[in-house]
Amino acid sequence: MTVDGTSSLLGQSVHRQIRQMVLSGELTPGQALSVPALATKLGVSRSPVREAVQQLIYEGLAVSAPHAGAKVAAVDDDRIRDVLAVRAALDGLAAAAAATRLTDADLDKLGAIIAAQEANLDDSTDATRDAQLDIEFHTFIRDASGNSCVVDELARLEAQAHLYRGDLWCSARNRRVALREHRRIVEALESGHPESARAAAEAHVQGLLTRLARQ
Ligand SMILES: [Zn+2]
Repeated sequence: MTVDGTSSLLGQSVHRQIRQMVLSGELTPGQALSVPALATKLGVSRSPVREAVQQLIYEGLAVSAPHAGAKVAAVDDDRIRDVLAVRAALDGLAAAAAATRLTDADLDKLGAIIAAQEANLDDSTDATRDAQLDIEFHTFIRDASGNSCVVDELARLEAQAHLYRGDLWCSARNRRVALREHRRIVEALESGHPESARAAAEAHVQGLLTRLARQ
């Protein structure tokens, strides 16, 4: 098994493609994940698709429906609150660990992701691109934590958080506030102080919870 839980390069690629279709909203919550249809669409055999769907179930992005295969999971208001509450603690843990491990080159890379987010906010209304950059930002920090358990859990929680359909990820105002919070996280990571990094990362997720309560 590889890091993302699938057993072959093809399996990983198929998993990534279907996952992206789910996260971008091309496949919507409740929609059936038909193995034959996805295999035809992606031009692959059914076996890697079956494997990818199992992996999506494990990640909480799909649920198996009795006698009907699997379907895309729906993340409602209660679930997103639970997901974010756990994420706040784990994101804090990841950022605190990453604070003493990130190199200058890593910090430059984080800065570049933020710059891309800012450019995307200024130039377009592409919320899907923004969600991708958000995932990239948080993935980079958790990977730098060096804690494989935190990496696995956060990967699942973050994907579920982005499955939530609502203003949280889409409104320009919310995206702008989130960008400001990302900047504070990078500043704290640059300082190299684990507790500052933890506080900034927790504050970002608490901010998401506050914005969620407001909508
Ligand atoms: Zn974020």
